[in-house]
Amino acid sequence: MKEGIHPKYQQTEIRCACGEVIKTASTKENIRVDICSKCHPYFTGKQKLVDTGGRVDRFNKRFNMNQGK
Ligand SMILES: [Zn+2]
Repeated sequence: MKEGIHPKYQQTEIRCACGEVIKTASTKENIRVDICSKCHPYFTGKQKLVDTGGRVDRFNKRFNMNQGK
């Protein structure tokens, strides 16, 4: 095993716009996201603060999750 070949994983935090902080290990530091598993209706099954300002729309487009066309 040589050092310096693999990207350096480190403890970091993913901060969501809803305030959720997820601790994880990543090669990146201080990741910010607009939406996470805690506040996205796809995961929670209910709409929360996400249905304003087209936030869900943008999320759906980004992840190609538009349904019911
Ligand atoms: Zn969130």
